[in-house]
Amino acid sequence: MGWIFYQVRQLDKWLAKSGRTAKPQLTGIYAYIIDRVVRLQKQHDRETEILRASLERQNLLISEVKDGVVLIDDKDRIKWFNKSAENLIYLNPKRDLGVPLRGALRQASFHAFYDAEDFTKPKRVCFDEATKSWLDISVTEYEDKEKLLVIRDASMLQELEDMRRDFIANLSHELRTPVTVLVGYLETLEMLDQDPTAVRIHTEMNNQCLRISALLKDLLTLSKLEAMDSKRSDAEIDISVLLEQIAADAPKLEEFDKHKIEVKVEPDLKVIGAETDLFSAFANLIYNAVRHTPAGTEIGIKAKSKQGIARVEINDKGYGIERQHLHRLTERFYRVESSRNSETGGTGLGLAIVKHALMRSGGKLKVESTLGKGSSFRCLIPLAPQPSDNND
Ligand code: ADP
Repeated sequence: MGWIFYQVRQLDKWLAKSGRTAKPQLTGIYAYIIDRVVRLQKQHDRETEILRASLERQNLLISEVKDGVVLIDDKDRIKWFNKSAENLIYLNPKRDLGVPLRGALRQASFHAFYDAEDFTKPKRVCFDEATKSWLDISVTEYEDKEKLLVIRDASMLQELEDMRRDFIANLSHELRTPVTVLVGYLETLEMLDQDPTAVRIHTEMNNQCLRISALLKDLLTLSKLEAMDSKRSDAEIDISVLLEQIAADAPKLEEFDKHKIEVKVEPDLKVIGAETDLFSAFANLIYNAVRHTPAGTEIGIKAKSKQGIARVEINDKGYGIERQHLHRLTERFYRVESSRNSETGGTGLGLAIVKHALMRSGGKLKVESTLGKGSSFRCLIPLAPQPSDNND
């Protein structure tokens, strides 16, 4: 009994030290238990080593990627970041670990992006105006409220984008004057000509020049809007007044073909924006509804407020648009069906202008359409804050 008791004590002492000390010299079943424990320990050590090595490798891989990676905890504090994040957004491991993200990054543009909490798509943010540093930031939110920020340097892409925009703006600007002069001379020639063939030729030349002129005007408008995308305007605009005015002017359009226009606009719909931008957005949509629908069909202009958003709808009962085209309509020069559109004389830039004009008021465009039944273009624009909003 004494020997058994001694062996159990020895075994217990050894196990209490996690079996990491020298093996006690025991016999029988106790020696067997010690052997099994030692073997399990060795296996456990091997597995731990493999795990440690794989974790180390993963850490190394993530810290060496070119994109900045930042892990944020559920209280919005910085939990971890890699080397690229140090370079891209000037984080410092000694200073910023455990610090709230908003405190560590003080750039207003970053705050605007982060506070909007719209993380559905990566966003391009001007991180530092002085160094022209632009970042594409995407945020993944996890169930436990942790977030992963992936940050990519987009300065080069943005520079190219700016160059493209400036090039188009300059070119359109330079070409406008010569084209206007040509239009003037062609109109004079048209009046002077007696020969019907010459009149026909000059009329056609004049029409083509007018098309170029319209194209240049739209290209210029679009470039201006794109350049101002990030700068919101801050005037309060009553869009009810704007819509009534456009609807009243629509019958004067050359293309207006006895369409029936029904207007149902709630009064006092105030949004923050630039009047010319919103005017051009709504006018383009109404102009499209007139041009892309058969003569005599109905066009509805509706506007109401719902949950802090002004909803402006331009509905028509025209040809409708096939589903596969809908997501591409706001691309520059995208046309649903070239043969039909060349007759309508549009520039192909109208909906791109609408998209950017709405963006400047924080709004967006939604399109629904059924082939053969008609289309609905919906502008959703946040309403201007009411004076009572500040008294809460
Ligand atoms: P466009 O100057 O050709 O009208 P937009 O950018 O305004 O250019 O529109 C792009 C295309 O979307 C048009 O060419 C036309 O095919 C289609 N579209 C726009 N509005 C309508 C509408 N109300 N009904 C049917 N198709 C439309």
